[in-house]
Amino acid sequence: MDKFVRAIFPGSFDPITNGHLDVVKRGIQLFDELIIAVGRSPIKNQLFTPEQRVEMIEELIGEMPGVFVESFEGLTVEYASQKKADVILRGLRSLTDVQYEFQLAMTNRAVAGIETVFIMTSEQYGFTSSTLIREVASLGGDLSNLIPASVHKRLEQRFSRLGSRNA
Ligand code: ADP
Repeated sequence: MDKFVRAIFPGSFDPITNGHLDVVKRGIQLFDELIIAVGRSPIKNQLFTPEQRVEMIEELIGEMPGVFVESFEGLTVEYASQKKADVILRGLRSLTDVQYEFQLAMTNRAVAGIETVFIMTSEQYGFTSSTLIREVASLGGDLSNLIPASVHKRLEQRFSRLGSRNA
């Protein structure tokens, strides 16, 4: 099989965690090109702007050939077709993820005929979610094993700014 395979890895990445990075590192071994696609969702309550999230990811993938990052708006399947992506990549942590991801993958295949490939995270990141990271960071907890140092720094800056604004 000589076909060039391009995958997109869509998500909120608010912020990116070691769990996401684990999926990226495993993913690029399966595909020729992997685009981390940061969704600009108007509905979700976001801590970092899409630009900040992209910037944080750019710093982390600098040394990873074939891995790119950009933000996108609207339907994931439309973005996938615009990028001529063959595959959507998603990460799985637990059986709870499977239920939701299964529905999403089936819907995307039904509406756009695109396949989703799942990668299971390393056990040590099985409980890591951006939501919990935001909560723990807001309370000043130690997250050094779960997120890259550069992301930790951004979170500290973000929360110290929020703190001074609320004071
Ligand atoms: P979304 O809001 O679309 O779920 P996320 O940024 O939370 O976006 O997640 C993007 C993808 O990464 C999803 O497939 C999610 O299941 C996966 N993911 C999130 N955290 C982890 C983790 N710790 N390990 C593996 N995959 C993860």
